[in-house]
Amino acid sequence: MQTQMLIDGRWTDGPDSERIEVLDPATGDGIAEVAAGGPAEAAAACDAAAAAQPAWAEAAPRVRSEILRDCHRILMEHSDELADLITLEHGKPRADAVGEVAYAAEFFRWNAEETVRIHGTIGTAPGGDKRIITRHPPVGVVVMITPWNFPAAMITRKLAPALGAGNTVVVKPPREAPLTALRVGELLAEAGVPPGVVNLVPTTASGPWFDAAVDHRAVRMVSFTGSTEVGRVLLRRCADRVLKTVMELGGNAPFVVFADADLEAAVTGAMVAKMRHSAETCTAANRFFVEEPAHDEFVERLAAAMGSMKVGSGFDPDVTCGPMINPAAVTNIDRLVQGAINGGASAVTGGSAIGGPGFFYEPTVLGGVDPAAPITREEIFGPVAPVVSFTDTDAMIAAANDTEMGLIGYVYTEDLARGLNVSERIEAGMVGLNRGAVSDPAAPFGGMKQSGLGREGASEGIYEFCETQYIAADW
Ligand code: NAD
Repeated sequence: MQTQMLIDGRWTDGPDSERIEVLDPATGDGIAEVAAGGPAEAAAACDAAAAAQPAWAEAAPRVRSEILRDCHRILMEHSDELADLITLEHGKPRADAVGEVAYAAEFFRWNAEETVRIHGTIGTAPGGDKRIITRHPPVGVVVMITPWNFPAAMITRKLAPALGAGNTVVVKPPREAPLTALRVGELLAEAGVPPGVVNLVPTTASGPWFDAAVDHRAVRMVSFTGSTEVGRVLLRRCADRVLKTVMELGGNAPFVVFADADLEAAVTGAMVAKMRHSAETCTAANRFFVEEPAHDEFVERLAAAMGSMKVGSGFDPDVTCGPMINPAAVTNIDRLVQGAINGGASAVTGGSAIGGPGFFYEPTVLGGVDPAAPITREEIFGPVAPVVSFTDTDAMIAAANDTEMGLIGYVYTEDLARGLNVSERIEAGMVGLNRGAVSDPAAPFGGMKQSGLGREGASEGIYEFCETQYIAADW
């Protein structure tokens, strides 16, 4: 198990007094102590990234592309080991962890293909007086901060396009789940990523760490995935040096079921949208709007599916819902559930925290939820499905859009015209139409409104890590 930080191709311990204790959320027991850096280590990592950047950017795209392909290969070859680490430190069921590794690795294969297709343009200006040439050099040194809910994929979704475009990076892995990131760093080095191109510095003091990185002269960009609350703080700080930013922030996804939907498919999709990765995803369905004639049957079927889930350690092959990340997460979920119940909702199944050891919450379906209850406005990040019924489509869409978030929405209907019409009216960067999962390295992932800035994946993803230079030319 790698527990040191990576700076300039060397694994080091950093200051002795600083260690991060990583807990197994299924038991609450400590599993490892990881080296933690402060501002000095963040700055040293930025120095290393700055020194490595020119040569990496000058390597032929094909050279970078083939290293990215090898990164895909090596991550897949170590899928079992990485999935074990993910389940150990995050807690998600191991099948979800295996899925995460494949998703994480696929960003390298997709971006290996994109790396050799970063094209500029050439055209004649409308006035005929010059040629307009555009090209896309890398941004330079990029700082990346990622959350704990996908310990591998949230890092590779940034790393692969950034490296493909010719950038070098300094990553702050999540404090709760840094072990997977460190092992991924080791494997990338084995696949041929040169020293200094990827630096990994966990920390116990993210504010001072981030200040040092932002103030480093070589740093030109910050790519962040995490909560909207923290994203706002980082954006303000990035303004001091006018840094380019990509922000992948929180969600509050509506999941809409029309009465004509195939209810079996809708419940299957709801379980995927709500419960994958133990319900700790930014894309998790947060509010269910079900058209009145289908409401009772949908609630009954969803409650049956949720009520039959097995909760426990992600290593138990029968478990479909693992632990929450920490006790604070359980407390927050329970605050939202009890608030909804006090406001008139009823727990059709579940409704309580499960006593320790470990940090567990019962898969819960809430019926009769007040559409204005906090549980419909805040990100639950846990296995709880609040259901609201609707009769008027316009009013439902207004309610679905009545949030600062705009990451994703889901629509189930057999009427494709209505499905597309409602999808277009949902203010979200992504919509699942008769689908409970949308994530794909070949598709642009990202949010509207306060769910984020920029996109990860697809062709857009690699251009986020590029500048646009225009050359006005005469010959
Ligand atoms: P978080 O915002 O608390 O933390 C995210 C990262 O930021 C962590 O590494 C944390 O240590 C770091 N951080 C916190 N304060 C900081 C500071 N002052 N300076 C620098 N770094 C700081 O989020 P979390 O609890 O780790 O993850 C859950 C959140 O992430 C949810 O809101 C979820 O929706 C969001 N998320 C979004 C996406 C997306 O693609 N849009 C994907 C996954 C998770």
